Amino acid sequence: MESGTVETGAAEVAGPNGGGAPAAAAIAEAIEVLNPATGETVASVPVDSPATVAETVARLRESQAEWEAIGIEGRYHWLGKLRDWLLDNSERVLDTMQAETGKVRADAANEPAYLADLVNFYGTHAAKFIGEEAVRPHSPLMAAKKLRVQYRPHPVVGIISPWNFPLVLALGDAIPALQAGAAVVVKPSEFTPLGLAEVAKAWKEEIGAPDVFACVQGLGETGGALVDAVDFVQFTGSDRTGRKVMARAAETLTPVSLELGGKDPMIVLADADIDRAANAAAWGGMFNSGQVCMSVERIYVEEPAYEEFVAKLTAEVRGLRQGADGKGFGKEVGAMTSPNQIGIVEDHVQDALSSGATALTGGKRAPGPGDYFEPTVLVDVDHSMKVMRDETFGPVVGVMKVRDAEEALRFANDTRYGLSGSVFGAKERAEKVARRVECGAVNVNDVLVNYFAMDVPMGGWKESGIGYRHGAPGIKKYCRTESLVITRFGGKREPTWYPYTRGRRGLVSRIANAFNARDWRRRLGMRG
Ligand code: NAD
Repeated sequence: MESGTVETGAAEVAGPNGGGAPAAAAIAEAIEVLNPATGETVASVPVDSPATVAETVARLRESQAEWEAIGIEGRYHWLGKLRDWLLDNSERVLDTMQAETGKVRADAANEPAYLADLVNFYGTHAAKFIGEEAVRPHSPLMAAKKLRVQYRPHPVVGIISPWNFPLVLALGDAIPALQAGAAVVVKPSEFTPLGLAEVAKAWKEEIGAPDVFACVQGLGETGGALVDAVDFVQFTGSDRTGRKVMARAAETLTPVSLELGGKDPMIVLADADIDRAANAAAWGGMFNSGQVCMSVERIYVEEPAYEEFVAKLTAEVRGLRQGADGKGFGKEVGAMTSPNQIGIVEDHVQDALSSGATALTGGKRAPGPGDYFEPTVLVDVDHSMKVMRDETFGPVVGVMKVRDAEEALRFANDTRYGLSGSVFGAKERAEKVARRVECGAVNVNDVLVNYFAMDVPMGGWKESGIGYRHGAPGIKKYCRTESLVITRFGGKREPTWYPYTRGRRGLVSRIANAFNARDWRRRLGMRG
């Protein structure tokens, strides 16, 4: 079967969803995809061998030069067709996504909308971000040179993506890379291989676009083979795997961009609109069942607002409807996509409860079928508990009362992560506090919205990553700069060339001093 295509029906080889953690050592021949909302088998996807990965990269490498040559507008033409395909086929895309992730319809619906916006954003801004730059020489000594910077793509970009947003975190990185002129090979998560494969197939067969975008399937071994073969790696996933990817890329000196985990804090100041803060905390913590790298995971509330905030947050979370809603938009909280993750969530909540925390709502797995964890609000938590320190990545928030903003900031910054965060409060005060949160993006009086503000970059501090998405850095990273220093006029020899003589070197020194010194004595060759 061709790389990236999908067979439906039960697999003969047990896949990662069938038996806990994927065993990288035992190389699977196929991935069995289960619907986490029902436990039913959805499809079986053959795993691509390292040889197939290398062949796929080599094939796309052949087509890349022409893709680069058609220029920014030429590439936007094809990416615009991809946008139109996503919009025209969004129902089909959402059906596949729900089947492999167990998301509710509303959470899934965000993905094609974001991607269409992203195509337009980079299509219309690429010339500004990566168009050729004319640079004025900084010194009169360079006046005879014309300086230009051109941005040339890394020929083949490899994208390794996680399961929580199967299209946003795969296609969302492929779009700026393709717009930059790179060819792109994606390895989606073994838990959610179907959606991206469907798009890659449509790129080729329905859109008829150039052969510069493909998908390979598999687990860690396939991901490692992709790292070996490409010229740039965009990885999104856990910091544990990110370290392995970076170490492997170091062997071939391949540059990487890593978007890793988070433990995002929310600070609620006493002068906040408490209704807005509580509703935002509920959505920011439970959206996509909390399986969001930028999810609100921990909340610090100034003492005077604490009781009211906790009461309103608990009421909002308790009212959320959980389950599978098909096409219906009838539920708020869906399933846990990875069976490993529900175990981690359960462990964090148990650890907190056994150390004195209280679950005001939720606190346990929901009865089956499907992998569901009840939307949970924990209080009486502290920073010795996993739920306040490690990435939970589930529908759980821990809430702590703090004396003041200083204490809130101390707790917020007491983490090895630094992806994003949020601050709620009266405008000026909240903004002041936001500027002191140690992370790559902070929302003031909102949550998660920075991901849709693609005009500005986002990237993790500390162990949350290396590199940026969005804005100019989100496309520049897929390029290598090529500086052109072009001689406009010159004689047969420059004064710095051979032969070296006392007279010529003296002249060079006098000219250099005249321009480099910042006082008249030194400009004239005297001591200061
Ligand atoms: P993961 O690290 O387990 O897997 C990510 C990808 O890496 C998968 O495609 C997997 O097959 C592949 N992989 C595994 N071992 C590999 C290896 N040795 N070499 C190459 N590839 C390998 O992560 P996950 O469980 O799929 O995703 C959840 C994590 O992703 C969370 O930590 C979450 O915070 C993070 N995440 C980060 C962002 C962000 O933008 N910062 C966004 C979403 C998710």
